[in-house]
Amino acid sequence: MLKEAITTSIFDLFKIGPGPSSSHTIGPMKAAYDFLQRTYTLPHDLLLEPLQIKIHLYGSLSATGKGHGTDRAVIAGLLGWLPDTCEPNAFTVLLKNPDDAYPISIQNEALTLTAKSIVFERGRYDSPHPNTLVFRLMSNGKVILEEEYYSVGGGFIQRKGEDPQAASTKIPAFPFSTMKELKEHLSKNKISLTDLMIANEMALTGLAKKEIYQKIDDILETMHKAVKRGLRHKGVLPGTIKLRRKAPVLFEQAKSHASTTDSFMVFLNAYCMAASEENAAGNIVVTAPTSGASGVIPGITYLLRNHYHYDKQKLREGMMAAAAVGFLIKHNASISGAEMGCMGEIGSASAMAAAMLSYCAGRPIETVESAAEIAIEHHLGMTCDPIGGYVQIPCIERNAMGAIKAYNAYLLASSGNTGYQKITLDSVIKVMRATGKDMSKKYKETSQAGLALSATEC
Ligand code: SF4
Repeated sequence: MLKEAITTSIFDLFKIGPGPSSSHTIGPMKAAYDFLQRTYTLPHDLLLEPLQIKIHLYGSLSATGKGHGTDRAVIAGLLGWLPDTCEPNAFTVLLKNPDDAYPISIQNEALTLTAKSIVFERGRYDSPHPNTLVFRLMSNGKVILEEEYYSVGGGFIQRKGEDPQAASTKIPAFPFSTMKELKEHLSKNKISLTDLMIANEMALTGLAKKEIYQKIDDILETMHKAVKRGLRHKGVLPGTIKLRRKAPVLFEQAKSHASTTDSFMVFLNAYCMAASEENAAGNIVVTAPTSGASGVIPGITYLLRNHYHYDKQKLREGMMAAAAVGFLIKHNASISGAEMGCMGEIGSASAMAAAMLSYCAGRPIETVESAAEIAIEHHLGMTCDPIGGYVQIPCIERNAMGAIKAYNAYLLASSGNTGYQKITLDSVIKVMRATGKDMSKKYKETSQAGLALSATEC
């Protein structure tokens, strides 16, 4: 094998949490929560008054952390909240006023968190990842605990000095790190992609097949709740752009043109933008694979369920095909906008959705691969330059565009002989990685170029 086998769980890729950003909101909240847990193991006699916590944000977290809610996320994590259980209404009002203060206690010793606890570092920092956080606990002016974390995309975090692979001692039933290896398992063992993914998930998580299906159903339910809420919620999204929500308008238009040939596209646009607008509002969504891209797969699965009447089992299987592609990208390139630009977020979601559409339609694995490859190919080099650092422009419409491209990638892959396809999924993922490395950091979630500069007046 080229690399170590993928040991990511489906439920690490599809995670429930508040918007607007998996790398800037969910990851930092988890990092802060982890830091808090570590403070509980310090010798108590080290904790001298005054106690103070400082959180230093670097790189993309510093550049766009305000608009992405990173400051609220670290406060939430230090309050002991976690993304999948935190109350979105309580989360969105954190730090609403500059004087807001949050008392916490560490081993019964009190300290207070405020906006001043967070430092948006502008200088250079020698860090292996553009999304870096450093937490320091100070006791009577002396640092007694310091931890550095990297928010590596999709809500995944790594702690400095910890090998992410070493954390997993579980071995998948069918180890793979490339599409080539995955296809070899399928043909050698004469099993379906669904059975392979289930066997791996069981080996990695210890869950039974029934439990895995139940969790996928819950994920789909959460995705579809976000779509439904977004179709109802009108008004202006939070932030200085004052962007008006569009999904409810699109939905009304789609219903009134339901018999026209392009109505399915208008419905799909409405569904994707509905979930994406909910993400921008800081409400609960599912990373798929990131929060910025949390409208593509929910929009498509909502369409498949409500317009094509796909049953539960078919959607579960589609989710597993999507996860397989998400794993390959995460493992061999990255799903982080701060590393890959938007091709890492919407490009990955589009490829996952293209694989899902093909697999749900009963196409062979070669078509599934080809659809995912085409979707990535046509997102290569896509920049991330959100206006004002908010996950709104271009992010919300981009979810709809990513879904439409996924649909077309599925159609293109389904027509003709996939044997004539010149580019493999593995090779386009390599190209994605190389392209992401070559891209200027100005176009990787820093809001320092592109749309972020040209539309500052909006
Ligand atoms: S432009 Fe793309 S990568 Fe950047 S914040 Fe928006 S959705 Fe995420």
